[in-house]
Amino acid sequence: MQNVLLNDEQTEIQRTLARFAKERIVPFAAQWDEEERFPRELMTPLADLGLTAITIPEEWQGAKLSRLSAAVAYETLATADLSTVVWLAVHNMAAGIITQFGSETQKQKYLPDMANGATLGAFSLSEAHAGSDPASLRTTAKLANGSYTLSGTKAWVTSGNVADVVIVMAREPGTTGSKGISSFIVESGTPGFTVGKIERKMGLHASPTAELIFDNCVIAEEQRIGPEGAGLKIALSALDSGRINVAAAAAGTAKTSLEIATAYAKERQQFGKPIAEFQGVQFMLADMAVQIEAAELLTFQAAATLDAYGSATREAAMAKLFSTGMAQRVVSDAIQILGGAGYVKDWPLERFMRDLKVTEIFEGSSQIQRIVIARSLLKNK
Ligand SMILES: Cc1cc2nc3c(=O)[nH]c(=O)nc-3n(C[C@H](O)[C@H](O)[C@H](O)COP(=O)(O)OP(=O)(O)OC[C@H]3O[C@@H](n4cnc5c(N)ncnc54)[C@H](O)[C@@H]3O)c2cc1C
Repeated sequence: MQNVLLNDEQTEIQRTLARFAKERIVPFAAQWDEEERFPRELMTPLADLGLTAITIPEEWQGAKLSRLSAAVAYETLATADLSTVVWLAVHNMAAGIITQFGSETQKQKYLPDMANGATLGAFSLSEAHAGSDPASLRTTAKLANGSYTLSGTKAWVTSGNVADVVIVMAREPGTTGSKGISSFIVESGTPGFTVGKIERKMGLHASPTAELIFDNCVIAEEQRIGPEGAGLKIALSALDSGRINVAAAAAGTAKTSLEIATAYAKERQQFGKPIAEFQGVQFMLADMAVQIEAAELLTFQAAATLDAYGSATREAAMAKLFSTGMAQRVVSDAIQILGGAGYVKDWPLERFMRDLKVTEIFEGSSQIQRIVIARSLLKNK
């Protein structure tokens, strides 16, 4: 049955991507996870569907989607694999920043190849001591004679070791707080820019996470994006959409978990009948379905609000907070319904459980979402 909130185009995105996920992701996702391998080969088929160009307008060979259509796309891909959505959404966020804040020269130089999947983007704000509080970042960018010299170590960069361009936030030496932070486009291979530790993670194994080291890395002044000192604002500009994307992805993974648990419950016999006939199991399935539906509604509403008003801070925070918590409850219950079978790698549920935890941590932890929501309730109108 078509979701009444979605138009024909969005329903078609769902259909196309469900087929794509079934053919191009589902058969390989467990292997990528096992081998901890980033599947670069997926870039071209994703690009053929416009998915590497979600934030890029047609003028730059993009296939710009509304926020709601993007949420539908990420949710559908996440029914197969969360890792794929994470690196893809970060790539699209990097492209979106260049689209929104870049100069004409920067757009011409980077966007067409980001759109066609030849160039992979990454986004580097966090540092080891600056996570929830990014304004405390310490990496410096010193301007002299038409060049910036970057020095410092960035942490937790999704695709940091495989990306071709990275949006890096760094501050003018001697400044503190959000003041003095600017954004830069740094290309891989630039002298003084190397990849440090590659994180060994609980999940998201097909989406690599790396430390980036800048050791007197010199880039042209023209590589700065937007005005001097606007770096944190630029970095945080994509927060609402980033949170909606995570909420959508968590809902997608939860949907598959429910599907697997439902099918299994109908097949698995104990005490002479399918376990689906036990009310204890039925109630778990019912609760899972309600929670998924609620998360999807919050997510689609946040996306539609962002499309309509250009801002959806409270809605995006609510969607992310609820959907990411919900997905973990749902996958845990799905594993419970499969019993021992749910705990082994024959089914994707254990991978989903490992992958999902981080959705409560990045793009603003669940505590940060609560702060955002409370602030919106308490502020003077
Ligand atoms: C797999 C992965 C991929 C990532 N990808 C990227 C990326 O591509 N680019 C990038 O820049 N960053 C990325 N990050 C970093 C991510 O954004 C941070 O991990 C996140 O912002 C949290 O920061 P932290 O880990 O330093 O935790 P901390 O900020 O140290 O938080 C620790 C705990 O304290 C809580 N806390 C903090 N402040 C408050 C408060 N005011 N009130 C109540 N509780 C609070 C938090 O909720 C959390 O529970 C990634 C992280 C991971 C794990």
